[in-house]
Amino acid sequence: MKRLVIIGMDGMDWPLLERFLPRLPAFSRLAASGYGGELEAIFPPDSIPSWISIFTGLDPSHHGILETIDYFKKDAREFSVDTGAFRGRTFWDEASRAGKKVIVVNPLMAFPPWEVNGIMASGPVFISGETATWPGSAAQELELPALGGIVDFPDQKDLAGFYDKTREETYAIVDFTAKLMERRPWDLTFVTLLTLDRILHFFWRYYDREDPTYPGPNRHEDRVADFHLFLDKCVERLIEAAGEDALFMIISDHGHARRPPLLFNLNQLLMENGLLESRIRGPKLLSPRYHVERAKNFTLETLHRLDLEDLSYKFAHLFPWTRKLKRKDFMTSPRANLATASGFGGTNPFGGIDVSRQRCREEGVEYEELRDRIIGLLLRQVDKEGHPCFLWARRREEMFAGPFINRYPDILYEMQPRYGTNWSLHLPLITLNPRHRKISGGHRKNSVLVAGPLQNWEVVPEKLTSLNIAASALSWLESGAESGRPPAAGESFLRRKAK
Ligand SMILES: [Zn+2]
Repeated sequence: MKRLVIIGMDGMDWPLLERFLPRLPAFSRLAASGYGGELEAIFPPDSIPSWISIFTGLDPSHHGILETIDYFKKDAREFSVDTGAFRGRTFWDEASRAGKKVIVVNPLMAFPPWEVNGIMASGPVFISGETATWPGSAAQELELPALGGIVDFPDQKDLAGFYDKTREETYAIVDFTAKLMERRPWDLTFVTLLTLDRILHFFWRYYDREDPTYPGPNRHEDRVADFHLFLDKCVERLIEAAGEDALFMIISDHGHARRPPLLFNLNQLLMENGLLESRIRGPKLLSPRYHVERAKNFTLETLHRLDLEDLSYKFAHLFPWTRKLKRKDFMTSPRANLATASGFGGTNPFGGIDVSRQRCREEGVEYEELRDRIIGLLLRQVDKEGHPCFLWARRREEMFAGPFINRYPDILYEMQPRYGTNWSLHLPLITLNPRHRKISGGHRKNSVLVAGPLQNWEVVPEKLTSLNIAASALSWLESGAESGRPPAAGESFLRRKAK
């Protein structure tokens, strides 16, 4: 009987993990007995669409969930997605239906938990509510850990406390999962730890000496390495609980690297090329909007230079206009524009541009021709060193084909890692990212797979994508079973070695 433990590590990055590997006995052992390397994540490499693609084997144009988490938004606490898009369609649902016993703990966004053949425990992300289990009485003898919820946004002075609390909360989830594994029958255990991503977002610049905001030798310098060492102990605890015969698959939803220290003001580029109208009419200097926008950018940059960013978050709520300023359309009116920078990728090197078909018709511009023109415009942008700013720019149809493809912006792109998308107008094309100190780590496209012991199985490198995790899990689990039911989507990257 083949058993499988999948550990989801949000934001785990292969180059980082590889660097620490000599100090990580559990990870090293698993990698040496099977596979360790990069896995191709989905586009955009954001947690919510990525995890749902991992659960279902479907890309976002097929499952339709493209929401992203924006830490800077005040309304983030009311955030939720429609679980109807994937409830009952995940790999653990498939395994349940094939008669496998499952233990599922903390899958992102899969709340409230639903009926499975075994136990499912999850918590709300951002929205209010308590950790819950299916069946309701499932873990009565155990103390339920806090699951879901990502709401902490620590100040610089609170970072040490934030780190300790994060470790404690993470270990509570691991220990809860291990105890369930020790007390119940299971074929598949799937547990997700969301906390590495947060550690990397907030501690990156203390670790990375090349980061422009690296403060010099500091007391947080080793947090990134330490947290990996801590996660290795978590893996060890789960190996102990699983016994000898289980396959371990450690996966992440996207990688992590330095967040762009520079911003590319994409709406400015579109405006300079006559594709976007600023809402400022008449002479610039008479417009209050113009002054508010300039004042905001000046204030943020000054606070950044003086290392006082925490202050800007403290005082933001005191000024009623600051909330309005966060809306990406403050300076532009999307309906008035042929093309607008989309908010869908956040302040990251990847993103998209919305093109209005209605405005195309009104202006007598051919939609496809305009998309070509914009793609050409992006690809022609070079920085001071003469390097192209954009690595690629494509029509969404070149990448996706599902029924929800319209949820993607009309044009998709990826820039050099040092540029993040920004929406401000009346600024140079490239400016400093004034929020880099606050969140200095950012998402990267490639994620992680560490799988072992693989025994007489092997990994097929060309099939290593997030979309194939569900199929791989099912092919492993069902290899000994009679059901042979094909998974909903994707292809297995695990196969038996030829004799
Ligand atoms: Zn993530």
